[in-house]
Amino acid sequence: MKVMKFGGTSVGSAQRIQAVAGLIKDAGKNIVVLSAMSGTTNTLVEIAGYLYNRNTEGFKDVMSGLKAKYRATVDELLSTPEAKKKAWDYLQGIFSYINSFTREYFSTTEEKAILAQGELMSTYMMTCYLQETGINAVLLPALEFMKLDINGEPDQDYIRTRLAAVLKENDNADLYITQGFICTNIKDEIDNLQRGGSDYSASLIGAAVDAEEIQIWTDIDGMHNNDPRVVDKTSAVRHLHFEEAAELAYFGAKILHPTCIQPAKYANIPVRLLNTMQPDAPGTLIDNVSERGSIKAVAAKDNIAAIKIKSSRMLLAYGFLRKVFEIFESYQTSIDMIATSEVGVSVTIDNTKHLNEIIHDLKKYGSVTVDLDMCIICVVGDMDWSNLGFESKAMDAMKDIPVRMVSFGGSNYNISFLVKEEDKKRALQSLSKCLFDNA
Ligand code: ASP
Ligand code: MG
Repeated sequence: MKVMKFGGTSVGSAQRIQAVAGLIKDAGKNIVVLSAMSGTTNTLVEIAGYLYNRNTEGFKDVMSGLKAKYRATVDELLSTPEAKKKAWDYLQGIFSYINSFTREYFSTTEEKAILAQGELMSTYMMTCYLQETGINAVLLPALEFMKLDINGEPDQDYIRTRLAAVLKENDNADLYITQGFICTNIKDEIDNLQRGGSDYSASLIGAAVDAEEIQIWTDIDGMHNNDPRVVDKTSAVRHLHFEEAAELAYFGAKILHPTCIQPAKYANIPVRLLNTMQPDAPGTLIDNVSERGSIKAVAAKDNIAAIKIKSSRMLLAYGFLRKVFEIFESYQTSIDMIATSEVGVSVTIDNTKHLNEIIHDLKKYGSVTVDLDMCIICVVGDMDWSNLGFESKAMDAMKDIPVRMVSFGGSNYNISFLVKEEDKKRALQSLSKCLFDNA
C-alpha cells in the first residue's frame, strides 16, 4: 500500500481533480491524501477573520464567492444529475455549517472547525467523481483517526490503531481517499496540523500503515540542485537522505513541508516527490540511504537577521550561552545559525517580530550589533567531516563574496554561509559553477 498526497494546486479545478483521478485510479489500493483546493484555506481564514470582527458584509461577500466557485467546480466535474446533486447537497451542508457561526461566540476552536472544511470538500468531490466513473473509492474521515495528544503532537499509537480499524471496516474498497491537514485534539474538537500540514498527514498515515512509499505529488518539477529562478541551468536531484531533505525543506525549497520528514524517517518509509504535470518522471526519492561523496543541492533563505553579542564576560565563563539563548526563548524566537568565539557569539533568526526587545535584553550581557537583510546559503550533501576537500570546495566558491558567518559540523549533511541578500545571486551562481559545473 502506498500513500499518495496531492496538494492544493493539484486539486485546484475540476480538470485538475479529474487529472488526479486518472493518476490514482489504476495505481492500486492506496490511501490518497488531499489538500483543500488551492486558495480555499486562505478564504476560510478570511471568513474566520470576518466572524471574529462580526463583519457580516465581508462574510457574505466572501461566502458567495466561495459558493460560486464550488458550484462551478461540481458542475464541471460531475456529469450525472444524481452525482451533481449528491455533491452539491454535501457542500451546501458545509456552507450552512459555516453560516451557523454567525450566530455563535467565535473563538479559535470555531476557527479551526471552519478551516477544516476545505479538505472535507475536496475529498468529497474527488470521491464522488471516482464513484461516478465506476471506482469503489471509499472516503476515510481523517477526523476519525488523526488525533493530537495532550501536547498537541500527533498521537501515533492512536492513529495506527484507529486507521487500521477503519481500513478493516472498508476492506472491499478499490482505493481510499482522506483529508490531509485536519485532525481532532485531546478535547475531541476539530483541529489541524498547521498550515501546509497535509504533507505531515501523509507521512503520519504512511508510518501508521507501514506504507511501501509515501508519494508527495505537486505541480513542481521535483527537487532541483539550485534555485531555478536564480541559476540558469539546474538539474533535478534524484535522491536525498532524509536529513538532506530536511535541510532543504527548511531552506525554502517549497516542495516538501519540513514536518513531513520525521514520521517517514523513523518508520523508514521512502518519500517520493512527484510531478502531476509529468507523472512518468522519476521525481526525487528521499530515504535513509546516504550517498557518500556527493554534494546534492544548494538553497537559500532570505530575510535573516544576524545578531552578535560581544562580551569580555564570556571569556573563560560558563553559563553565558545559556543566558543568551534564554532571551531568545522568552520571545519564542528560534535561532538558526550559531558561531562562537571566546569573546562573542553570533546567531541568526528569521523571525524579527521581537528583535527590539531581544536586543534590549541582550545588552545586559555585552555589546550587541545587528545585520539585517541577510541570507543563509546552505549547501547540502555528504558533509561528513572525515571527507577531504568538500568544505574547501564550497568555501572556494565563496571566495569573492563577503561571508558574515559559516556553520560547518552541525550535521553531517550541511554547510551554511551567511551573506548579504544582495550577494545571494552571485553566491548561488558561483556555488553552482564550482559544485555542479552547470552554471
Ligand atoms: N489546506 C491546508 C493549507 O492550505 C493544508 C495544506 O494544503 O497542506 O494550509
Ligand atoms: Mg498546500
